[in-house]
This record gives sequence, C-alpha cells and structure tokens, in this order.
Amino acid sequence: FTRAKGYHDDDQNIIGYAGLVTELTKKAKEQDVMKHKNQQLESLNKISKTISSKLKLDELVQEVTDITTQFVGAEFGAFFYNVKNEAGEFLTLYNLSGADKNSFAKFPIPRKTELFAPTYNGVETVISDDITKDNRYGKSAPHFGMPKGHLPVKSYLAVPVVSPGGEPIGSLLFGHKKIGVFNKDIIPLIEGIASQSAIAIENARLFTEKEVSESNFRMLAESIPQIVAIISQDGIPEYVNKRYTEYTGLSLDDAKAGKGRELVHPDDLEELIGNFEDALKNGNNFKHEFRFRRNDGVYKWHLTRMAPIKDSEDNIVKWVTATTDIDEHKKQEEKKDEFMGIASHELKTPLTSIKAYMQLIQRSTKNAEDDKLVHYVSKANDNIDKLEAIISDLLDISKIQSGKLEMSFSDFDFNTLVEEVYEGIQLTTYHHQIINEDKVDTVVNADRQRIEQVMVNFLSNAIKYSPDGGKITIRSKIKNDEFIEFSVTDEGIGISEDNLNFIFDKYFRVHTDNKEFSGVGIGLYISSEIIKRHSGKIWVESKEGEGSTFFFQIPIRGINE
Ligand code: ADP
Repeated sequence: FTRAKGYHDDDQNIIGYAGLVTELTKKAKEQDVMKHKNQQLESLNKISKTISSKLKLDELVQEVTDITTQFVGAEFGAFFYNVKNEAGEFLTLYNLSGADKNSFAKFPIPRKTELFAPTYNGVETVISDDITKDNRYGKSAPHFGMPKGHLPVKSYLAVPVVSPGGEPIGSLLFGHKKIGVFNKDIIPLIEGIASQSAIAIENARLFTEKEVSESNFRMLAESIPQIVAIISQDGIPEYVNKRYTEYTGLSLDDAKAGKGRELVHPDDLEELIGNFEDALKNGNNFKHEFRFRRNDGVYKWHLTRMAPIKDSEDNIVKWVTATTDIDEHKKQEEKKDEFMGIASHELKTPLTSIKAYMQLIQRSTKNAEDDKLVHYVSKANDNIDKLEAIISDLLDISKIQSGKLEMSFSDFDFNTLVEEVYEGIQLTTYHHQIINEDKVDTVVNADRQRIEQVMVNFLSNAIKYSPDGGKITIRSKIKNDEFIEFSVTDEGIGISEDNLNFIFDKYFRVHTDNKEFSGVGIGLYISSEIIKRHSGKIWVESKEGEGSTFFFQIPIRGINE
C-alpha cells in the first residue's frame, strides 16, 4: 500500500492505485501457478495410486491411456505396447482414449519411421506444436504423413514407456487438432508417469504369469493319479493334493500335525524317515518304497520321490514329493521272484548231478591221449561253474525276498581275504593289471564268505566293464578306527549320472542292448543287501567313459558292538 500511488480525478476522487494493482496481478499469477502446481501434484498422486492399484494388464493399460490423455490435455491418446505371445513372438497392441477403436482399426500400427522410432525404441520423448510442419514427418511410404481419414493431428507428443531394466515396453502417443497444445514443462511429469506405468505393467505381467503358473500347477497336481505334497525347508507339509486327502482321509492340517507318518507301515517307517531327514539335511533327491495305509486300513506299496525346488541362486526353498501306488507292480515282482526261486531250486539239482558226472569224466580223461577231449571237458567245467554262480545268485535273491539271507559272523584277517580274492581273480584275466594298493592289518568281525562275494562282484564287474583292459586298483582303509573301507577302481566304460542312483537296484542293468556285457543285474543288488546286513554302506563314484570306483564300508567289530 505504501508504495501505491493514488490516481485522482479532477474532483480529487481516487480512481485507482497503480502500485497495488501491479502487486495484486503478480501475486495472483503466483497463486495461480501454485494452485496449478498443487492440482498437478494432486493429479499425479491420484494417477500414481490408480496405476499401482491395478493388477490386470488390460485394465491397467486402459487406465494409463485415459489418465495420461487427460493429464496432458490431449484430444486423443494411444498406448502402443508390446506383448509376447505363446510362441514367444512380440506383438504390438494398442489402447485408445478419446477416439473410437474402429476409427483406428483400419490403419497399421505406427512403424519405426524417423519420427516414431526414438519413442518406439525407448530413447526419447518427441514433442511438436505442429507435427505436419515437422521435418521428420511425412517422409515414409506409403502414406507420407497421416493416412487419409486418420484422426486430424497437429499437436503431437510421444513418450516412451521403458521398464526399470531398460526394456522398451511401449509408447504413449498424444494428439490434438489444435496447434501448440502441449507444453514442454509437462515432459518430465509425463515421463515420470510413464516410468511408473512401466513398473506397474511389469508387476501386472509378473502377477499374471504367477497366476497362470499357479493355476497350471494346481490343475496338474489335482488331476494326476499321484499323491503330491509340497514340503517346507523344515519338512512340514504346506500343500497336499486331493488324491492325498482321498487316499489317506487326512486334511492338510492333519498332515501338518504329522499324522501322515502314522500311516506308514511300522516296518518301513524308520528307513523312510531316515532317508527323508537325510535328504532334507543334504539337499539330495530321494526315492523310497514303503507301505502306506489307505483310509480303510489296507496297506498298499507306494514309491515316493522327493526333489528340492531351488531359487535362482540355487538355494532350496521347498520340496516336492510325488508318491505313486506300485502295489500291483510289487505283487507282480513278488510272483516273479517266487518263480525265480522255484526255478533256480529246480535247476540246481540236475546241475549238481551234471557237475559230479563231469568230475568223474575229468578224472578218467586226465591221462587221455586226446588233447581235444581234455580241453572240451575243461571248457564244460568252466561253464558249469558259471551256471552254478548264476543259480547261486538267483537263490540269494529268493533268500533276500523271504528274509532268509542270514549272515554268519566270525573274526578273520581282512587282508588275507583280500589277497585270496586278488589271486583268484587275477587268473581270470590277461589284459587287466590288478593292483592291491592300500592294505590294512586288521581283524574284522563279519561274514567272511559273504564279504568275499561282494569283493568278487566288484572285481568281476571291474573286469567285465573295462573291455579294453587297463588298471584295476584294490584299496583297503581304516576309517576313524571304527570302519573298514574297501574299494575297487577301474578305467572302464563308467556309468552315466542318470544311472548312478539305480545301480544297486534289483535287475538294473545299464548296458542291456550291448551283447558284449552279459549279466542279469543282480550282483550289486545282492552285494548291497549283504552290506546292509553288516550295518554298512555301499556306494559308487563314476564318470562315463573314464571308469568307476565301487566302495563298501563295514564296522570292524561287527554289528553287535
Ligand atoms: P550284471 O553285471 O550281472 O549286469 P550287477 O548287479 O553286478 O549286474 O551290475 C549292475 C549293472 O551295473 C551292470 O549291468 C552294469 O551296467 C553296471 N556296472 C556294474 N559295475 C560296473 C563297472 N565297474 N563299470 C561300469 N558299469 C558297471
């Protein structure tokens, strides 16, 4: 006021205050700017809330188009965005605001023309007061400018939408038929909204992908005949499928409370839990056969497999188990074993008799003149021995099956046994160099004959599966004063990783199509049963094409101490 100058009319009436008027105009302008800024902030705030609340991609994209068109004061806006189809190809879709989709449908998607490319490639915003006068405009065939019938555009604004990782997601295009509608000041704001939209779009995509994969998983888990469970890192069930509930009669809560364990046959429980806890601790896959009680009390044989689910950094986040009913298969297998037991008993009697007669023949041909006859008899005897070994293995299988594979423990010098086996096996091959490398001087308490059987199995396999000869190394070691570890290393064909897990299974053979390697696939199974009965461990390390090492470890002082 003090600085205001009054203007008077001739009658000295004040007609105005020049200074005050100027001050007021400036203030009003400032207030106007403030108000506008506040409005912008408010609408930015609203926009950001709206954008981040949408999780469905199509709704979100429409919302972004509408909101931004309104925000920049455009007559119409379009959002061109890239989507990946099922075949993994990129398509560009678009949404419109302020214009009917039909009025656009007959025109092709904007191409990477000189004008549009910077936006399309996510490089920069393009603004123009009159696009028809822009020298980048109208250069591209076939339309050289706007196609006939296109919405009339003079003011032009195109903003790239780029993901935080730098991937171009799409572009926002705004138009107005009047010249000079878009103000440069708005660029940072609309670019801010565009990057926020990009984050929201990425989230919506991830959400959709997650939803699809979860619904796929559920569909799969609910429709397969297997019992499926997802288990937390500490071994607590987090999800069980419908088949689990149907079979056991238990709910997820029951499973969480550990009621599933009560349904495992008491004879199978300890081993199953042992394997399960071992897998949780060591992060390895495991499979196990066990009897599982149905809700009507009937036990059925099942095979369960458990595998870890890992995150991108290879940390185990959960476990998944799939359990299959193998009861029918088990019954068939039992019948087969039963048949095998009977057949091998039946074969054994005549073979024993043939062997006795052959020995008589051998004795009477000892001094025969005919060399050929002596040779034939010796060949026949070798084959009788082979047949005897096969039948003896088959009989062992039926003993294992009926729980009659009994061990007879005694004290013996371990190295003497190794030497005996070593000498015996050396006679059977000319082109393998067998080395008894590490020896031990200790007496063990074990079933001598059965341990010999395991050693012979390891060594004869080492010879059989090294057809090109090479070194075979025998090692015996004492571990922690408590165990004796025996191993046989060969330089043979080795075993692939896929097969390693099954090598000790009954009837499992890797090289079934190769006639060179004859066998029935029961030697290692019997060996593992023998070692099991010594409370020991049996395992293999192998690389295909390089060779294998088979190990067993048993307590030095037997199983009673
Ligand atoms: P068989 O030798 O009669 O087939 P085994 O139970 O002794 O039966 O062995 C099972 C399978 O393991 C064999 O068929 C073979 O494929 C594989 N195998 C055993 N020992 C070796 C070895 N030293 N090197 C490579 N493969 C082996």
